[in-house]
Amino acid sequence: MPELSVNPQRLWSDHMRMAEIGPSPEGGSNRPALSALDAEARAMLAAWCEPLALAEERDALGNTFYRRAGRDARPAIAFGSHLDTVPTGGRFDGVSGVLAGLEVMRVLHQARITTSAPLELVNWTNEEGTRFRPAMMGSRVHAGDMTLQQALAVRDDAGTSVAEALAEHRLAGPNPPGPRDWAAFLELHIEQGPVLETTGRDIGIVTGTVQARYFQIVVTGAPSHAGPMTMERRRDSLAAAAELVLAVERIGIAGEPGGRSSTTWITNSPNARGAVANITRLHSDVRHEDPARAAAMQAELIAAAAEIATRRQLAIDIDPYTTFGPVRFDTAAAAALRDAAAARQMTTRDMLAVAGHDAVMAALVCPAAMLFIPSVGGISHNPGEYSTPQHVANGAQVLLDAVLRLAA
Ligand SMILES: [Zn+2]
Repeated sequence: MPELSVNPQRLWSDHMRMAEIGPSPEGGSNRPALSALDAEARAMLAAWCEPLALAEERDALGNTFYRRAGRDARPAIAFGSHLDTVPTGGRFDGVSGVLAGLEVMRVLHQARITTSAPLELVNWTNEEGTRFRPAMMGSRVHAGDMTLQQALAVRDDAGTSVAEALAEHRLAGPNPPGPRDWAAFLELHIEQGPVLETTGRDIGIVTGTVQARYFQIVVTGAPSHAGPMTMERRRDSLAAAAELVLAVERIGIAGEPGGRSSTTWITNSPNARGAVANITRLHSDVRHEDPARAAAMQAELIAAAAEIATRRQLAIDIDPYTTFGPVRFDTAAAAALRDAAAARQMTTRDMLAVAGHDAVMAALVCPAAMLFIPSVGGISHNPGEYSTPQHVANGAQVLLDAVLRLAA
C-alpha cells in the first residue's frame, strides 16, 4: 500500500469552519448536546461525508456511524469522537477526533483505496454531559452501562428530555444502540492537560484511565433574614458549601501524585440579597489512578461533609451517582498507534487519561485505544483551548496510519 498523507490545510480549515457553529465571544465554541447548534454541526459533518460514498446509520440516541465498505467480510475498524461542547468549550475537544476521522475517509477516497476491513467514522451523542447528565451518554448506552430508556428520560435544567430534544431536531435513528461489528475503536483527542507539551512529545498513547467518582451534593440549611438572625442560630447552606468546596480541594492536593478533585458546579437558593441561603447544590468529583485511593478519597469527602454538617447543624446529602474506570485500553490497538507514530519519527509517551472519553465506554464492548495530541498550555474546556495545525495534522496522520495497519 502506498504511503498516504493527510492534508493539513484541509483538516485545519474543517476545524475553523466547524467552530463557526456556536462560536463564543471569546473565540471558543458553545454547542450543547442535542441543541439546534449540535444539529447544525451534525448536518455539516453529513454534508462533508456525502461525496465520500459512506453509508450513514444512526441509532435511537443519535449516535451516528459513517461506514466505508471493506473488501472482506471482517469486523470494522471504527474511529471518532464527539461534536458537542461544554458552554465554555474550545474548538478542538471532541471535534479534532471526528474531523481527523473524516480526514482518514477523505484520504482513502481520494487515493481510491479499499481496505480489507470496513471502516466506520463515529460521532457520539452528548459526550460532555453538561446539558444532560451523565457524560459519555451516547457511548455509555452503546456499551450497555445505561439503558436507552434511562437516557431518553434524562431532563436538562429547562425540563426538556433527551427524547424531546432528539425529536425536536430529528436526530434519532431507527437502530437500537448497542455494540457493533468492530474489531477496534480508536479515538484521537486533545490531551486537555500539560504533560505532552512540558515533556516535548508529539503524541500521547493512552494506555488506560484513572478511576473517577462523581457526586451530586445538596446542602440543606434554614432560610432566614441576613440581618436580624444571629450568627449562632443561622443554618447557612452557602457557608457550609464553601467549607466543603475547600475540603474537596484539599483531598485532591493530599492525593497527589495521581490524585485530582474538583467542585465544578454550584447553585444556591434562594440566592437573594438579604436572605441567608438554605439550599446549595454542588457537583464534585475525585479521581485517582489507583481505585483503592479513589475510594479512600470518596470516604474522606463523605467524612468531611459529615463533620461540617454536624458542626453547623444542617444536612449534607451526597449522591455518588456515577463512576468510571479504571479502564485498560487494548494493547494491540495501542501498539498500532505507537508503531504508527514511531514510523513517522514522532515521539510518544504512554499516559493515562484523567478525564472521561467515549473510548472509555467503547472499551467495555470492544478493543479500544486513544491517542492524545498536545494542548497548548494544558488549557481545555476554555475558549483559549488550542492545538497547533501541526499537532492536529500529526495526530490525524497517526490515526490514518494506525487504521491502515489494523484494516489493511
Ligand atoms: Zn472530549
